[in-house]
Amino acid sequence: MACGIDLSGRVALVTGASRGIGAEVAHRLAQAGAHVALVARSIERLKALAAEIEQRHGVRALALETDVRSDEQVQATVASVLEQLGGLHVLVNNAGITRDALLLRTTSEAWQEVLDVNLGGAYRFTRAALRPMVRQRHGRVIAISSVVGLRGNAGQSNYAASKAGLIGFCKSVAREVGARGVTVNVVAPGLIETDMAAALDERQRSAFLDHVALGRIGTAGDVADAVLFLASDLAGYVTGEVLRVDGGFAM
Ligand code: NAP
Repeated sequence: MACGIDLSGRVALVTGASRGIGAEVAHRLAQAGAHVALVARSIERLKALAAEIEQRHGVRALALETDVRSDEQVQATVASVLEQLGGLHVLVNNAGITRDALLLRTTSEAWQEVLDVNLGGAYRFTRAALRPMVRQRHGRVIAISSVVGLRGNAGQSNYAASKAGLIGFCKSVAREVGARGVTVNVVAPGLIETDMAAALDERQRSAFLDHVALGRIGTAGDVADAVLFLASDLAGYVTGEVLRVDGGFAM
């Protein structure tokens, strides 16, 4: 149990769990007692993480190689989680990529790819997970958006569109399934220390930090704590919300 939050007996699926924020979210949920299904393309990383989680937290952890761009793979993965772990209570749509370029220099391929992973992946997994959640009258869907989806960012029009799209998507689904006990919320991180953020140079980092009230770059743990709250019973009356975890950047 972590911080008094008890997810014992619940099953959580985390996309993009092979590293960064997703891996940390999986650890936090498992630490609170949830069995976890780990989804990404890098199966060896997932297997290593699953073994570590089972050993450290004493829950079941499944490694499921899945490309979130594939309808068939997503459906098969959800079916496998239901069969092997006996249910699905928490879905964390975290898988995401960047293909940054100014609009005049970007390509339609980059646009398609970013939208298909970041927004399409969340659409596919939410659609597949919703039926069991509605049937059991309980579910938590959490999407990892970005402050870039709230404020925009030069050079990230495709990424910003995907992250803003997640917010509209989640608010709509929240209205569709609220009466069935399923909540749908969004976490919007600022700059978080992961492989994705490593792409920024020192100048970009310090320009960003100038606007962060808390004066530091965030950690994957900062985001995972917010996800844990939204996944828990403490957040039972919270839906359609966008929770910024950005040190005060976008306030
Ligand atoms: P990361 O370290 O680059 O990890 C991205 C994850 O997404 C990996 O596990 C990757 O796994 C998975 N992924 C990418 N394409 C996939 C696909 N087609 N199918 C399945 N999985 C796929 O990124 P991160 O920093 O942890 O970011 C996690 C989420 O937080 C993303 O949605 C990102 O946009 C968001 N976010 C990050 C920051 C930040 O500063 N880091 C800020 C705001 C929001 P494989 O490569 O193994 O498939």
